[in-house]
Amino acid sequence: MRTWLEINTKNLKYNIEKIYEKIGNKKIIGIVKANSYGLGSVEITKELIKCGIDFFAVATLSEGMELRKAGIKEKILILGGVFDEELREVEKYNLQIALSRFEQLVYIHKNNIQVKCHLAIETGMGRIGVNSEEVEKIKEYVNENKLTNIIGVYTHLSVADEEGEDNRLYTEKQIEKFNNFSGIDTIEYRHVLNSGGILKYSNKDNGNYVRVGIVMYGICGENWIEGLKPVITFKSKVLFIKTLIEDTDISYGRECTLKKGDIVGTIAAGYADGFKRGALNKITVKIKNREYTVVGKVCMDMLMIKIPNELKDEVKIGEEVTLYGEDLVEKAKLLGTTTYEIITGINTRVKRVYIEE
Ligand SMILES: *Cc1c(COP(=O)(O)O)cnc(C)c1O
Repeated sequence: MRTWLEINTKNLKYNIEKIYEKIGNKKIIGIVKANSYGLGSVEITKELIKCGIDFFAVATLSEGMELRKAGIKEKILILGGVFDEELREVEKYNLQIALSRFEQLVYIHKNNIQVKCHLAIETGMGRIGVNSEEVEKIKEYVNENKLTNIIGVYTHLSVADEEGEDNRLYTEKQIEKFNNFSGIDTIEYRHVLNSGGILKYSNKDNGNYVRVGIVMYGICGENWIEGLKPVITFKSKVLFIKTLIEDTDISYGRECTLKKGDIVGTIAAGYADGFKRGALNKITVKIKNREYTVVGKVCMDMLMIKIPNELKDEVKIGEEVTLYGEDLVEKAKLLGTTTYEIITGINTRVKRVYIEE
């Protein structure tokens, strides 16, 4: 293998156990959208089923279909909204949807489409939730027509994972608005907490489910979570090594010049694998527990490191390189992005390897 993503399923299970301890009587909706944050939708879903999770959420119809086609029988909710013309497929694959338009409810009713809905309510995210006026319209319509297909209500927190008093008050207000929702008797599932919410606001909501995403992998926002274990390691290999026989500019754009006698290692991973460009001369990769600085711009399929002279015997062709691992959070910060963006950006050509150790 040239470049691969190692996923430690034992640590994943351990983290889920810890999350169960944290949420008390609530149950988990496993968030497996975007190919389970890049880690493999079917594989991760199957691991989560082993942990006792029986409800999953994806972002799109095709993600839901992928799980169904892989034989997953558990409940699946599409959180990202669907277009009316997708509803027949939603019905066919027995998926549930986030409902955020009155007109969509009418469409479902008029066309007699059998699809269960979770009402997405606006509490401060400004995304797909319905506002309080629309909520009233929906309640009236539901009661007039004796609809039974709205089985859930939820909302989404925008700053639950961020520090600061202002963010705390904002989140509490969001949760309060959610808690105050009532008026549809068929609602069975109530969920508001995401990873940040679970960690910091666990007793404040009256939901009976939580939506667990990134915290399964030991990460949340800009933090490692104390007591959780790392799940993800992005790895590659040393492809080539040379000692420069004259001063040489390294990579595109000539942004880095190394001296005669310097040793350059080329690693078999680039931005097309998902190793983000940027943070020139700051980002490092790890070989046998030592850090090596990435020099020059990251290329599409390769990147270069400087190997200090005293370490030249340490690094050989074929040696394993850790691109991101437990240092994912710091690296995301250095790159000016988030752990979410880094892991979902790891490309399909990178093999996902599941290890249980
Ligand atoms: C992605 C998503 C989540 C999961 O968020 P994490 O921060 O990864 O826990 C929960 N709810 C909704 C609506 C989402 O879109």
